[in-house]
Amino acid sequence: MRTQIGIVGAGPAGLMLSHLLHLQGIESVVLEKHSRRYVEERVRAGVLDQGTVDLMLTTGVGRRMKELGLVHYGIELRFLNSGHRIDFKDLTGGLGITIYAQQEVVKDLTNARLAAGGQVFFEVGDVSLHDLDSQRPKIRYGGDGDASELQCDFIAGCDGSHGICRSSIPNGVLTIFERDYPFGWLGILAEAPPSSDELIYAYHERGFALLSMRSPTLSRLYLQCRRDEDINEWSDDKIWTELQRRLAAKKRTLVEGPIIQKGVTGMRSFVAEPMQYGRLFLAGDSAHIVPPTGAKGLNLAVADVRVLSAALGDFYASGDSDLLNKYSEVCLRRVWKAQRFSWWMTSMLHRFDDNGTYDRRRQLAELDYVTSSRAAATTLAENYVGLPIDPICVEHERKYQERSPR
Ligand SMILES: Cc1cc2nc3c(=O)[nH]c(=O)nc-3n(C[C@H](O)[C@H](O)[C@H](O)COP(=O)(O)OP(=O)(O)OC[C@H]3O[C@@H](n4cnc5c(N)ncnc54)[C@H](O)[C@@H]3O)c2cc1C
Repeated sequence: MRTQIGIVGAGPAGLMLSHLLHLQGIESVVLEKHSRRYVEERVRAGVLDQGTVDLMLTTGVGRRMKELGLVHYGIELRFLNSGHRIDFKDLTGGLGITIYAQQEVVKDLTNARLAAGGQVFFEVGDVSLHDLDSQRPKIRYGGDGDASELQCDFIAGCDGSHGICRSSIPNGVLTIFERDYPFGWLGILAEAPPSSDELIYAYHERGFALLSMRSPTLSRLYLQCRRDEDINEWSDDKIWTELQRRLAAKKRTLVEGPIIQKGVTGMRSFVAEPMQYGRLFLAGDSAHIVPPTGAKGLNLAVADVRVLSAALGDFYASGDSDLLNKYSEVCLRRVWKAQRFSWWMTSMLHRFDDNGTYDRRRQLAELDYVTSSRAAATTLAENYVGLPIDPICVEHERKYQERSPR
């Protein structure tokens, strides 16, 4: 089999890339190891920043998001038993975020690809990459007598943090930057109406907590916990009691409901540089991970493939590989700003094991500053709603949208 772009992974990065390429008349094949049902039911992110929202709308995959997504123009920071609103609309000149579950984004993109005759193959095993430093890289998949080969012009590694693409790059090419945090998040999805109209980030002496939501009837809540926390030790009652302690306020107790999903996630910051080797381009979680406190993972994945699709569009339209050569550099500028923001939110809001009195006083002073200084609140707001898309990318998109109207 032969295609222009072979894409490994049908998460937000792989599917969005395939969609954006299709709009420019570029062929791709997406290979995903899990079933369609599994990827469409995997509960993960839920905060879409302004850039992701705008891209979904302008490329024709935003109809359900517009109908079902919850648009928010602020968040609450809660500490010392008081809530303080960060008003995104006021601080950023009208921008906001949309609460729309990652699995819904994945459903919308999969449906759009399949409706347009796109090739997305699920339950594909034994994927391996070959000849990455040649003009004709290949993907082999399916093992034991049933192996197939996909010949490509380029390969996009969109297979998340545990995929095979990054590890297919020879030793010594990548430099890894990472930071582990001494805690994790215990997250639940509950059939209960959200107890607040907006997200609440709570700094509490027992540890951080986050009140979020996925729809008017589904709450998503998180508790800071140990990295190796055993979820089996957390009954539903124990989880709700702890959430009530950390998030309840004078005039508010949380609305409880049946917990339909729960799990523990470790917190990690990670960047692999460069995001390219030969004709393999890494995008999304395969190249970088942020702790979820800044809600940037999915949005960064989408921002990467936006740059990659413009660069590939440029290459096929004019043979110009300038932007392809700059792919890593352009993406990493945004990646590192998102790393900084996610690290900063995490450091400000969590209880660290070695938090002495000095550090706790310093964290409270930081929260006090962020919620009382317009300048400080603006830096939080503009990072949270999403920094502007790189002008190189915007310019290329404009050019290709003019050339290839949908
Ligand atoms: C608890 C939690 C909360 C989060 N909250 C937020 C949030 O609020 N906002 C936000 O923006 N981000 C959030 N994130 C991060 C976000 O979910 C990820 O950053 C996002 O999924 C990255 O998309 P991706 O397409 O790069 O990778 P993935 O979504 O991981 O997709 C990779 C795909 O590749 C497939 N794959 C892997 N290996 C292979 C292989 N060998 N062959 C073929 N296919 C393969 C996988 O099955 C998967 O479908 C959160 C993450 C977690 C865990």
